[in-house]
Amino acid sequence: MDLSYTDEEKAFRDEVRGFLAEKLPKEISDKIRAGRNIGKDGYEWWHATLNARGWLNFNWPKEFGGAEWNAIQRHIFEEECAAAYAPRIVPFGLSMLGPVLQKFGSKAQQDYFLPRILNGEHWWCQGYSEPGAGSDLASLKTRAVRDGDHYVVNGQKTWTTLAQYANWIFCLVRTDPEAKAQEGISFLLIDMNTPGIEVRPIVLLDGTPEVNEVFFDDVRVPVENLVGEENKGWTYAKYLLTHERTNIAGVGFSQAGLDMVKRIARIETANGRPLIENPHFAARLARVEIDLMAMATTNMRIISKAAAGQAPGVESSMLKVKGTIIRQEINDLARRAVGPYAMPFASEAVAGDNDPIGPDYAAPVAAQYFNNRKLSIFGGSNEIQRGIIAKVKMGG
Ligand SMILES: Cc1cc2nc3c(=O)[nH]c(=O)nc-3n(C[C@H](O)[C@H](O)[C@H](O)COP(=O)(O)OP(=O)(O)OC[C@H]3O[C@@H](n4cnc5c(N)ncnc54)[C@H](O)[C@@H]3O)c2cc1C
Repeated sequence: MDLSYTDEEKAFRDEVRGFLAEKLPKEISDKIRAGRNIGKDGYEWWHATLNARGWLNFNWPKEFGGAEWNAIQRHIFEEECAAAYAPRIVPFGLSMLGPVLQKFGSKAQQDYFLPRILNGEHWWCQGYSEPGAGSDLASLKTRAVRDGDHYVVNGQKTWTTLAQYANWIFCLVRTDPEAKAQEGISFLLIDMNTPGIEVRPIVLLDGTPEVNEVFFDDVRVPVENLVGEENKGWTYAKYLLTHERTNIAGVGFSQAGLDMVKRIARIETANGRPLIENPHFAARLARVEIDLMAMATTNMRIISKAAAGQAPGVESSMLKVKGTIIRQEINDLARRAVGPYAMPFASEAVAGDNDPIGPDYAAPVAAQYFNNRKLSIFGGSNEIQRGIIAKVKMGG
């Protein structure tokens, strides 16, 4: 196994750096660095910028016009974007639905939906979770009943990220209530402008309405919006989840966060000395840095295996657990480093352009700390991941 970069990969890194230096304005990267919201327009602008370069669909196969980067190229790109404080790519259309349509969608669905994911005409959200169906997703109850050439959908989804921006939602719905849990589920594509859909915001701990409840009341969906076969949706849902868990380790985000904590700890003081010299703080910082270095190496090992054609298995669960623990620890260190400036937390300082209270670096610290509690819950909670690891590694 070779963990060093080839000349070609180094040249690719330079190309990404050059692109970011040219195309990412300081005004946007400053907002990301300060943890401020760039809003729908900001995400759409970034998608369009990447699309113009042919880099938005980097994980799509060439037959669908994608760049088809290998695992190492994707890793380099994600690392450089995090280091440059580029906006994140909203994954729902590109990394989740796109691959499902490419594998299981009809030709008509591929021809209609894939280009609209890329050109930004469609903003997708993910309608999987329901009240009572999260970790135990197969117990979902949202019902779709066939009525002529339509399905009639009734029920509720929850925790739907950025549904307030979306005009389409991909949903898991129950089409056969008599079948065994996993067998009566179908995968439907639903236009959010159809009568009977209501989106209600859920305000998170950081004060932002990042997630929503979505209600369906006799929503009529054309049968041609069924992906694959009726009652086979679980197969497609699971395939999608393997794509949801890409870049799960978040090494680039952690590295950028750690650099920020060090910057803060060099400026803030404890007992008249820079905080970074405080033995307790320095020890915690060192511990998380060592953990991050170890995880980055593990990540490279797994990427190197993937580049050699071996699909990651239980390793992605290990990266999810470790990666989220590290990011949450970094958020906690930042919160401690800014001390009382983390207290006057005002979501307006993050969502709007208001001046923060205290130094500029203090503004997002509390919001990020609170917001990133989500990391150990979504994409399969850490407890569920530990269960998977135990089962595979210990045969539990
Ligand atoms: C910020 C955020 C954004 C999200 N975005 C979306 C989205 O866009 N679309 C979408 O469909 N969903 C989304 N989700 C939902 C997410 O997938 C679920 O929250 C997650 O699967 C956990 O389900 P739950 O919240 O129902 O908790 P539950 O499944 O009820 O779990 C509650 C607790 O019990 C633990 N637990 C449950 N079962 C077990 C077990 N077998 N062994 C050990 N411990 C267990 C869990 O780890 C957790 O700590 C989002 C969630 C969050 C927080």
